[in-house]
Amino acid sequence: MRNIDIIYINGAFVTPHGHETAELINPATEAVIGHVRLGDREDTLRAIAAAKQAWPAYARTSKAERIALLHRLHDAVLARADDINAATTEEYGGPVSRAAWVGAYAAKSFLLAAQTLQDYSLTRQIGSAQVVMEPVGVAGLITPWNSNAGFICNKLATALAAGCTVVIKPSEMSAIQTQVVTEALHSAGLPPGLFNIVNGRGDVVGAELSRHPDIAKISFTGSTAVGKTIQRAGADTLKRVTLELGGKSPTVILDDADFATALPLAVTAGFQNSGQACIAGTRILVPEHRLDEAIALARAAVERTQVGEPKDPQTQIGPMVSRKQWERVQSYIRVGVAEGAQLITGGEGLPAGIHAGFYVRPTLFAHVRNDMRIAREEIFGPVLCIITYRNEEDAIAIANDTDYGLQAIVLSGSDEHARAVGAQLRAGRVLINGLHHEPLAPFGGFKQSGIGREFGAFGLEAYLEPKSVIA
Ligand code: NAD
Repeated sequence: MRNIDIIYINGAFVTPHGHETAELINPATEAVIGHVRLGDREDTLRAIAAAKQAWPAYARTSKAERIALLHRLHDAVLARADDINAATTEEYGGPVSRAAWVGAYAAKSFLLAAQTLQDYSLTRQIGSAQVVMEPVGVAGLITPWNSNAGFICNKLATALAAGCTVVIKPSEMSAIQTQVVTEALHSAGLPPGLFNIVNGRGDVVGAELSRHPDIAKISFTGSTAVGKTIQRAGADTLKRVTLELGGKSPTVILDDADFATALPLAVTAGFQNSGQACIAGTRILVPEHRLDEAIALARAAVERTQVGEPKDPQTQIGPMVSRKQWERVQSYIRVGVAEGAQLITGGEGLPAGIHAGFYVRPTLFAHVRNDMRIAREEIFGPVLCIITYRNEEDAIAIANDTDYGLQAIVLSGSDEHARAVGAQLRAGRVLINGLHHEPLAPFGGFKQSGIGREFGAFGLEAYLEPKSVIA
């Protein structure tokens, strides 16, 4: 049983002023595995004050000093990678096949930020002006539960690279991961106040960060609804915001694609991170004259997907993170049936042979219209929709007919053809014929999938303000 009753302020682990506690539950077993004591407004104010005090000196550090510090953080987090992986499985239900890389991935953020800073010109000449990119100030970083360690490290790495000090509000459901990451970061021995970490509720700690005048910028990853709340709360102080929000990403399978590989790939794209991924490709678009073929191939792929114990290396889909999330997915399965979509496989209830844990049956709907709720709203579980299109123009229109715009995948027999269709899609990332990743390319959403970008130079600039010095 873990009892996490400390937060991190001004370089030290301290007992929170707040007294509220929250249970930590292993979603694979439903057992209570610990408790976390939550910080309150007072704790948040202390953390903001510490970051504010540390900022002026840190903002004056050189590129070389910041790069050295980022390397120290990388080494410190990498040394605890196995513990981060284990916490992800225990607390989040992340299958080991995925959890095996989350610690190293989190650590790598610091190297990527160091490389980005190294390659970035903080001053440049524009006509008679010398333009200096200055750190924006103290940043508030708010993370979700679906990749807590990764988001803490990436946001922190970028903010520190830019010369910002920070207060981090991690997901309150990820306190074990947060604890391991905080211990690792502390062991790097940075000057006090550069980063402060306050466990707590979103509507308490997150809300205070979002409105406090000493917070210049919020970088938030989470739901679109909370993203809007944060932007409203920050309006009075005109906070800079980076909002990485939800998605309802299309996988567009063109008529010339090899369906035998395209459909399984589309299913994999939809089931990433047990379906709890902002980038999950949850709308599979197929030509209407090949619907039966597409359904048969997708159904076989869904039914091959192994659901179960996250510690089993064969497992592809673990439990949902919480009972609330399990119930949300169940309710969307009921909505799909009620809306008249055809349930091809899966459905309500626990998978066969499983009697405890927040497991859902991987579910596939066909005959889905793009105006149904299951096609429009983010479900955040392994529930996929097959939607038909008449021709390519129709496919592009359906793909773009969404409030979201985080990612799109185009599958075709020719990269050129896929690129031509991809050029017409309104999404922050378009993947051509595969599940590709480029860690230094900007990541973020069009439309209600967010504001701003993370990673690489675009991510760094989100923590910088240009100052024109004209002589
Ligand atoms: P959430 O919005 O419920 O919570 C995210 C964080 O915001 C948590 O730390 C929470 O405590 C905090 N929060 C809640 N209310 C707040 C408030 N009023 N003010 C400030 N902070 C508040 O999201 P979640 O359920 O933790 O994560 C799932 C969501 O995150 C999905 O919608 C998913 O698409 C999105 N997501 C987006 C990306 C991306 O990069 N675009 C990546 C991962 C997850």
